[in-house]
Amino acid sequence: MPGCIFCDIGGERTDSEVLFRDDQCFVIRDINPEAPTHLLILPLAHVTALADLGRDGEASIGHLFAVAEEMARREAVALSGFRLVINQGPDSGQGLPHLHVHLLGGKPLPGLG
Ligand code: AMP
Ligand code: ZN
Repeated sequence: MPGCIFCDIGGERTDSEVLFRDDQCFVIRDINPEAPTHLLILPLAHVTALADLGRDGEASIGHLFAVAEEMARREAVALSGFRLVINQGPDSGQGLPHLHVHLLGGKPLPGLG
């Protein structure tokens, strides 16, 4: 999607470091980390919401979570614990319209709500 920074990073049109990549998704560090480990796991395709993943949505979201778990092990937070978050829509505070899963860990995280 023209003008989408995450499409540009996934499409290697920036010099941003990509920690992991396969044929469906890629992983980067959040530019404004809220925890010692703060990664974003993103589909290569520009989709804004879970429903936009279409027919293969369940497999796609499952793959994002499987990659997140792998990244938690690589970042050595799998045992200490981590949080996966998707912000979707205005009430969530979603800031960028390219679906992404936040992976947060490396310190005790504040409670929700
Ligand atoms: P959300 O509020 O869930 O849409 O989160 C968007 C996240 O993207 C925020 O945590 C930002 O810090 C992060 N972000 C914005 N631009 C970039 C970028 N160029 N590279 C990495 N992370 C980014
Ligand atoms: Zn995009």
